Amino acid sequence: MAVVELRNIKKSFAGVDAVDALNLTTKDGEFIVIVGPSGCGKSTTMRMIAGLEEVSSGKILIDGADVTELSPTERDVAMVFQNYALYPHLTVYDNIAFCLQVRKWSKERIGQRVRQVAESLALSQYLDRKPAALSGGQRQRVALGRAIVREPRIFIMDEPLSNLDAKLRVDMRGEIIKLCRRLKVTTFYVTHDQLEALTMGHRVVVMRNGVAQQIDTPQRIYDEPVNKFVASFIGSPAMNFLYATSEENGKVLRGPGFELRTSDRLAKALARSDSHKMIAGIRPEHLFPAEAGPLEGCGWVRGKIELIEPLGSQVMIQVSTGSAIVMAQFERQPGLELGQSITLKHKEDTPHAFNPEGERSFL
Ligand code: ATP
Repeated sequence: MAVVELRNIKKSFAGVDAVDALNLTTKDGEFIVIVGPSGCGKSTTMRMIAGLEEVSSGKILIDGADVTELSPTERDVAMVFQNYALYPHLTVYDNIAFCLQVRKWSKERIGQRVRQVAESLALSQYLDRKPAALSGGQRQRVALGRAIVREPRIFIMDEPLSNLDAKLRVDMRGEIIKLCRRLKVTTFYVTHDQLEALTMGHRVVVMRNGVAQQIDTPQRIYDEPVNKFVASFIGSPAMNFLYATSEENGKVLRGPGFELRTSDRLAKALARSDSHKMIAGIRPEHLFPAEAGPLEGCGWVRGKIELIEPLGSQVMIQVSTGSAIVMAQFERQPGLELGQSITLKHKEDTPHAFNPEGERSFL
């Protein structure tokens, strides 16, 4: 376990900032997820923490000690990559044992430790096999085994599940969460999958163009995104955005074909604002057909149904207000038809509001 502190770290490649002014202090044993679109600086951040990439400026501390100039081995960090990086000519046993052999552990002690790790990852029956004779999920477990066998202070996992099919990803996601909770090792986990970010991390770092946009718990990132980028990146399907004016002391966000009712807190913030023009945000899962719930106190969106997508127990529809397309996702119900006019209500206190540039939430 370790406390990792990133103090204003920055990395420039040929004058371009891949990571800029990143500040973060983990708790002991914390699971941090770094999420963002391709090229936003996730891997570069991980490589700096691991010592594989020099920082251009700033400091990295582990348990209070400055490790900025230390080599990867001196930092005691274990990495798991997307391509597993297993040795193809070695058996599962030797792949897991390798770093202990390098450390000159006795054969007996290595045997004990490897068997213990293999058992915890359900790999005991595969110890004699080579990686080519394993499934993707088994290979990924071997890569994890190799990382945990030496009990590092810090784990870094860079998109470890991206080569797995959808079902295996879900299974392995659960395995990794359980493993990290059990081992209580401080972990940095990189993904571009917002669902992994929401389900796995104690805290999530949302990055864009090398800059951390928000560092917060998954719940707060979902409930109170600091800007339009975070709001659109986290949550699936993505939040709807509508040009609106704030009226009635910030209690209403109005535009063609909609009238959203804000929470008391948002209304207060909007009432203080000089400008009444803004971007309203409402998540698809917070909209439902008016007939399906109480009308009082809720705002509405009206339009024509342009698309109906059945999703098993749920249905997703696209509604055209005439000036915008709004997505809504709710429990499946009969009677929805293409071209039909529909009034959607929104759940209480769910609308968001951003300044016209989308750089700032009013909350
Ligand atoms: P992905 O999700 O596609 O893996 P990422 O968020 O991990 O992307 P990085 O690999 O950290 O992004 O890259 C951040 C930026 O730095 C990108 O614009 C990339 O092109 C650039 N970059 C990364 N490594 C180098 C390098 N060695 N030389 C020059 N530019 C680099």
